[in-house]
Amino acid sequence: MNKNPYEVLGVARDASDADIKKAYHKLVMKYHPDRNPDNKDAEEKFKEVNNAFDILKDPQKRAAYDRFGDAAFAGGNGAGAGFGGAGNPFGDGAFHFNMGGGAGMEDILREAMRGFGFGDFGGGATRGAPQRGGRDLLDEVTIDLKDAYFGKTHTVKFSSNVECEKCHGNGTADGKPAPACPRCGGSGFVQTRQGFFAMEAPCPECNGLGRKIDKKCSECDGSGTQHKQRTLEVKIPAGVEDGARLRLAGQGEAGANGAPAGDFYLDVRVRPDKRFERINDNLIMRVDVPFVTLALGGEIEVETIDDKKLAVKVPAGTQVGEKLRVRGHGMPTRRGGYGDLYIDVAIHIPTKLTDKQKKLLGEFAGAKSDKKGWF
Ligand SMILES: [Zn+2]
Ligand SMILES: [Zn+2]
Repeated sequence: MNKNPYEVLGVARDASDADIKKAYHKLVMKYHPDRNPDNKDAEEKFKEVNNAFDILKDPQKRAAYDRFGDAAFAGGNGAGAGFGGAGNPFGDGAFHFNMGGGAGMEDILREAMRGFGFGDFGGGATRGAPQRGGRDLLDEVTIDLKDAYFGKTHTVKFSSNVECEKCHGNGTADGKPAPACPRCGGSGFVQTRQGFFAMEAPCPECNGLGRKIDKKCSECDGSGTQHKQRTLEVKIPAGVEDGARLRLAGQGEAGANGAPAGDFYLDVRVRPDKRFERINDNLIMRVDVPFVTLALGGEIEVETIDDKKLAVKVPAGTQVGEKLRVRGHGMPTRRGGYGDLYIDVAIHIPTKLTDKQKKLLGEFAGAKSDKKGWF
């Protein structure tokens, strides 16, 4: 279980972003493995501080923590810590834009790998500075079947890191890429000892960036990113299926210091419809038909999903449960056509009959017929 991130950083519940950042920097310097060789307590604290900051630096995560507590991150920090080894100053744990959905283990692992890259485990000497790519964002929307039929533009408002406009993501005052860090030579890592093991820790001089920014950009304080309110218009295509995941490449969070941005994903759920059942591209609609129409044949009027009135022929002798196929009135298909509409025939028995109708039905029941079992 994780500790209360506010307590770990020693800040108030309503602490500002700047206060949180300040507290984090102070603690991370204090407990950094480089300054505390072979100190298990410091290592533990270092992890805690990073986990806490990972939650509190991110408005969505912080809000989720405030609402759900630790449950919002169940599993996420475990995986993050495992991959993080001696501590992870980037705090790239699992991230879920929509906390309602709950991140699956796969997402968490993918996110964890994204933050570190497989190469970090091998420890090759030729590796470049760690990629601090922007995180993917995931949102979910539930739409009506009719919206799925026509397609829809879904507007998402959220706040995320975007590339700093002033320095073009470089984090420097002059907006140009910063020179390589002298301490780590641009790799972003330094060697540190943990008991028997020689491990690599992110360079404390450049925080793993690999570059040394002398004069920081005044706008973003050297991070290369800014937190901004954003609005995305996501075009949901006509015919979208329940469970579809739409991807907007490069629309996730901006990467730190010019690293590539993540992607934005929108999971689309299609609400079940009262009138239509959808099977792939086809629609099924249950319609009550007067028994006389079923017996003698005729026409019924149905309303299609695009609100059009449609006359459908009912052949004489149609049975309850039969499906009448109406071509081209189903859902839009990927190939640009349409599926079919099936009328699931039900029967309508009138509850009020005139004396004359009763008499005629009585006569009908008594009459000989070669078609038995109508009533
Ligand atoms: Zn460095
Ligand atoms: Zn900047």
